[in-house]
Amino acid sequence: MTRHQDSAANRWHGAAQLLALLRAEPGITRAIAAQRLGISSGGATDLVARLRTAELLDESPAPTRGRGRPTTVLRAHDHGPLAIAADLRPGDWRLALTDIAGHTDIVDRSLQTSSDPEELIAEVAAAISAVADREPGRVRAVSVSVAGTVSDDRLVQFTPRGWSDVDLSPLRHLDIPFLIGNDATLAGLAEARTGAAHGAGTALHLIIAVGMGGTLIVDGAPASGAHGAAGEYGHIPFGDPATQCPCGAHGCWDLTIDGRALARLLGEAAPSDPVAYTHTLIADNPVPDNRIRQAFDTVGASIGRGIAGLVNLHDPDVVTLGGLASPLRAAAPRAFESAYLQGLMAFRKKSAPPVLDGVHGDDGPLHGAATRAIDHIVSEASLAEWARQ
Ligand SMILES: [Zn+2]
Repeated sequence: MTRHQDSAANRWHGAAQLLALLRAEPGITRAIAAQRLGISSGGATDLVARLRTAELLDESPAPTRGRGRPTTVLRAHDHGPLAIAADLRPGDWRLALTDIAGHTDIVDRSLQTSSDPEELIAEVAAAISAVADREPGRVRAVSVSVAGTVSDDRLVQFTPRGWSDVDLSPLRHLDIPFLIGNDATLAGLAEARTGAAHGAGTALHLIIAVGMGGTLIVDGAPASGAHGAAGEYGHIPFGDPATQCPCGAHGCWDLTIDGRALARLLGEAAPSDPVAYTHTLIADNPVPDNRIRQAFDTVGASIGRGIAGLVNLHDPDVVTLGGLASPLRAAAPRAFESAYLQGLMAFRKKSAPPVLDGVHGDDGPLHGAATRAIDHIVSEASLAEWARQ
């Protein structure tokens, strides 16, 4: 491509490609980036110079290796655009600032959260404003992860706190793009981009806390549904049709795969904190007695059987697990595996997709929210807008 063909759009197209590379390979040198993008060394020098002028990228001398020509290491510019990622969890919230290279730092967190949903939302909105004020003009998007069912701007169900229909729009108070998503969806996005499902074309992520959520990621993007409420895997009727779920439906899979299910199987009262209950039950019983063994096996088999159904449905390359799904499988590996294989259609059994533990752990939703925000601010349109200002 010659210089005079370099329309403004093409310019930002090349910039977006270079920034995507920087996120995928942090610490990449200018020389390697030029190779990956298939552009000349001079073209890369020009492109990086443009992005330095626009305060998007900066570079520092790379340590010299062998006899190759000296090059530089690329990084986000110190005055470049930022995004705020927020993670609203059952017991607390966290805010992080992320730059366009994907470097994410926690900058605020709750000490204790209000039991009133409106107060909690107001508290988080104020914290978001305070963080944005500290970096005038730099924060270009806010991306929030919520540990509940989100439909448009409403939190329609937050099982751990018993909340329903909470208005999240007060979080949309800054005059910058605002994105909101479910924690399981965003954790799946993080696994697909930089985690256990990295490189997979179609990946299914499932996360268990109180109930199960998840997402199907196709070519790096989650299938979010018309209102952002897709992925409520726990509310598929894989359970007992006689039992009613707090969501209002009967027979939800949710009721058979978490701490509530374990307690019910053990004849105990419903735990007030099903996540803590599950962790404790697993930790206290490295060699479970028969009764507890059976409870683990029943839950592990329900998880494995349901995953088989989802594999038959979605045909993923890989399934990744988050939250309690990994320790619950580990507590009943044989029951899980045999239910998984039994539930697969015959033609899938020989090449069953691997079911892998996720690598982001509890930080998955925050990383996913950050990823989504950066996707937004490094779009060609957003980069052009940033440069204009
Ligand atoms: Zn349900």
